[in-house]
Amino acid sequence: MARAVAAQGAEVILISGPVNLPPPTGMRVVNVITAEEMFDATHEHVGNADIFIAAAAVADYRPTRVAPQKLKKRKETSTIELVRCPDILASVAALKVAPFTVGFAAETQNLEDYARLKLEEKKLDMIVANRVGDGLGFDLDENAVTVLWSNGRQEFSAAAKTDLARSVVDLIARNFQAARGADTEPRLTVLSSLD
Ligand code: C5P
Repeated sequence: MARAVAAQGAEVILISGPVNLPPPTGMRVVNVITAEEMFDATHEHVGNADIFIAAAAVADYRPTRVAPQKLKKRKETSTIELVRCPDILASVAALKVAPFTVGFAAETQNLEDYARLKLEEKKLDMIVANRVGDGLGFDLDENAVTVLWSNGRQEFSAAAKTDLARSVVDLIARNFQAARGADTEPRLTVLSSLD
């Protein structure tokens, strides 16, 4: 996605969690480890962005306590208490002056219903929905997605992720210009990505 946006001529800041991908060239890359660091880095950079694309699979929960040393096994069962991570995407969409926000929804069932709910609840401009599980979505070079927005939808059938990214970015640019005025060229895009 970051490469496809840069190829359109946008200035890109990629906020990336730990990945096994070579860092893309031609853009600023901000490396983070935790969801909280991604939250902070996003809000540090998003102020000037026209478009925010949240492609990262951010952890929904984190442990309430981090053990400073290796935990020794003593009991038969063990419980780790988890606390919700801040929702970066929703927090960006809720900004007073929010960029055009695009989220992702990976679902194992009721793809379109759940994605549309997310679009509305998080107050996004667009959402890219894809089915995962049963050999779909992750660790593959191909994907199929449905993109939804308030009064529209477009399906993209299975294609290489690089081609799909180009088509989705074209659609984002068209919807951005329809929303913000035909003459508006996006200046800066912040992407948060884990993969
Ligand atoms: O609610 P759910 O996690 O399924 O929503 C997925 C979307 O929300 C993705 O665009 C993801 O990048 C974003 N997200 C986020 N911060 C989180 C969890 C998800 O920005 N803590």
